[in-house]
Amino acid sequence: MVEHLIRNEGVAGSSPACGTRFPVKAQHGRRPILSRILFLLLFGLLTIATQIGGLALLPALWAGRKAQSAWYRATLGIAVFLVCYSALWFGAAQLAPLTGRVPLPCMVQPESPLVSQSPIYCILNRHYVHPELSRLATGLSRHLDNRFPGTQTMTLDAGFPFLDGFPMFPHLSHKDGHKLDLALFYENGSGAYQPGRTRSSLGYGAYAAPRGSEQDACGGSAPWPGMRLPPQWEWPIQTRGLSLELGRNRAAIEWLVAEGPAYGLKKLFIEPHLARRLEVSSPLIRFQGCRAARHDDHIHIEIGA
Ligand SMILES: [Zn+2]
Repeated sequence: MVEHLIRNEGVAGSSPACGTRFPVKAQHGRRPILSRILFLLLFGLLTIATQIGGLALLPALWAGRKAQSAWYRATLGIAVFLVCYSALWFGAAQLAPLTGRVPLPCMVQPESPLVSQSPIYCILNRHYVHPELSRLATGLSRHLDNRFPGTQTMTLDAGFPFLDGFPMFPHLSHKDGHKLDLALFYENGSGAYQPGRTRSSLGYGAYAAPRGSEQDACGGSAPWPGMRLPPQWEWPIQTRGLSLELGRNRAAIEWLVAEGPAYGLKKLFIEPHLARRLEVSSPLIRFQGCRAARHDDHIHIEIGA
């Protein structure tokens, strides 16, 4: 009978008072394989997406195991995860400067018209850069606001708070706090600049593709494997009626190539056809190659080591 309990219920409990074995808590000793796979998947996804999010999963999992019902276990686990993730998020903001990275602004601030395009980049810890890159982006935003009052310069993916060499999917080069993506500037159908708005909901995936006589740098195709998508494969959530605002985009690149080297700017990626459309040229303006993602939906800047 005892062997039956052990085999079917896991490690049985034992009462030192009476020496009787009980099958209590036996089900907690064996976690279904599915749960472990789910945990590993979640841990991996959170680590890939946020760098530190997987750590918040550990106490959440521990707390959830104390609950009796599946509903209570899930609720408690989610609540503990959110509390722990918030604590890690605030902790990262305090500790990252000690390791050479600072968070970019998540919201519009009076002293700087630089802001994250979406709160999701901040929530996921993808808004950290080297202090010099932060100064470069802030300087750009102030220049544009001076030249075109009311302009908001928006940041996209930057870097994680810790560890050089930890890549940020899908931007594998964003692994040291020296790289930052900037959103393009857009106007409505009347030609009026639209502050705080991008054609794509996340700033990426709305391409200013070649038009008219403009040529695609990769001839309309790309080698495989690679990250370059055809221009018709746009991000599905789009704001219709917005188009590229040439003045601010041109002014931004002109300022970056002129003033950027003083901040350590090493290169700037944008598609060649877009550079020609904006009438900008500089040895700092480079093409990222046909295997990398397109750069006619955002501007990539990076500073030297
Ligand atoms: Zn980039």
